[in-house]
Amino acid sequence: AWCRLCPSPSPILGFDCDAALPDAAGLLERRRRHYARPQKNYYRTPPQIERGWKEHLFDVEGRAYLDMVNNVTLVGHGHPRLSAAVGRQWSLLNTNSRFHYAAVTEFSERLAALAPEGLDTVFLVNSGSEANDLAIRLAWAHSGARNMISLLEAYHGWTVASDAVSTSIADNPQALTTRPDWVHPVVSPNTYRGPFRGEDSTVGYVDAVSRKLADLDEKGGKLAGFISEPVYGNAGGIPLPSGYLEAVYAMVRERSGVCIADEVQVGYGRLGHHFWGFEQQGVVPDIITVAKGMGNGHPLGAVITRREIADALEKEGYFFSSAGGSPVSSVVGLTVLDILHDDALQENARAVGTHLKSRLEALGDRFPLVGAVHGMGLYLGVEFVRDRETLEPATEETAAICDRLLDLGIVMQPTGDHLNVLKIKPPLCLARESADFFADMLGRVLEEGW
Ligand code: PLP
Repeated sequence: AWCRLCPSPSPILGFDCDAALPDAAGLLERRRRHYARPQKNYYRTPPQIERGWKEHLFDVEGRAYLDMVNNVTLVGHGHPRLSAAVGRQWSLLNTNSRFHYAAVTEFSERLAALAPEGLDTVFLVNSGSEANDLAIRLAWAHSGARNMISLLEAYHGWTVASDAVSTSIADNPQALTTRPDWVHPVVSPNTYRGPFRGEDSTVGYVDAVSRKLADLDEKGGKLAGFISEPVYGNAGGIPLPSGYLEAVYAMVRERSGVCIADEVQVGYGRLGHHFWGFEQQGVVPDIITVAKGMGNGHPLGAVITRREIADALEKEGYFFSSAGGSPVSSVVGLTVLDILHDDALQENARAVGTHLKSRLEALGDRFPLVGAVHGMGLYLGVEFVRDRETLEPATEETAAICDRLLDLGIVMQPTGDHLNVLKIKPPLCLARESADFFADMLGRVLEEGW
């Protein structure tokens, strides 16, 4: 009784998997005509995905792909427990966030319990961009100031304030021209290709922040806060130099600024060794923003902070989100947390991620194009360079490798400011065999050419 398209139990759930499938070429043309998504296309012919099951995707022609790049579908595609919980809640009630619902209260409690002590107040929104916009507003309201320090080459979202603190050239080419004067970017602490490298680089990067703050002090600019990912995400999960956030948070707090940790990509167990990225740096932020995987693809985001910071917004502004924290969103959020726990997915991310990283490092021993393998858990980055001394980015090679991997049944895309990094962020249920399949196929492409 398995579906002919994919091994999911869809027929058991009562879907007609034999219903006519849309025609692939026709779909592409219709998309070009009507779907406004001004984003680069990573593939010559993007696959038309129809179904998903665990870490696999299936296109309208029945081809299977290993989904190594998702980062949104945290607990896997087509999880029956999630489908059942969402279906039930939709049948009972879904409405706006004006009223009080048990599920919303319970979800807020669960998030507060997952955050460090004192961060006990939760706002529910619909995306990472919205969460970061709200976090910046909270920093403004709490400090009575506007100035924000952010990292160059970071990405925090596309809404107005999140976009302003996003200075990744690849994701946001407009950033350099549209940046407002309250944003003060500092050099990104990239220990692989930044101006300071390796273990001893902390001092150089901390000094850069210190100089920026001194400059602001001198001009009489009061600080609102600092925003960063606790792991350098855009470049493929490079850990920040040890002690960096501790030193920066101390300088920011000396000026009564608020420290924001953007956990949209790295939080929720993806790093395997930690639930939150900031744990790796041994710090506690004042505000955590989270989204993506927490809804497994359903629009859901959250801001977790201290009551006193949340209350500041009441005095200076307001917060309202029509669908943020709706009953369905909250049930999705609660069920994702249950699955994460019951399927031991953070543990799986640690075990399979560690195995995969060692397989990729072994490729680095054989192929000089592999400059480095970054990251931990199931948040890894393979950085391709033409020369290991000059670190000249292998941009065209990376694009060609992605296209070749697609032919071999793996969805992957280039990332980083030079588009020379394969950022690996599969669902956390990735099986060891799937990790091996990916490493085997990447090895084959590097061996045979692309
Ligand atoms: N923050 C980080 C680190 C992200 O990677 C992203 C999205 O890629 C965002 C924020 C924005 O999230 P969303 O796309 O849900 O608005």
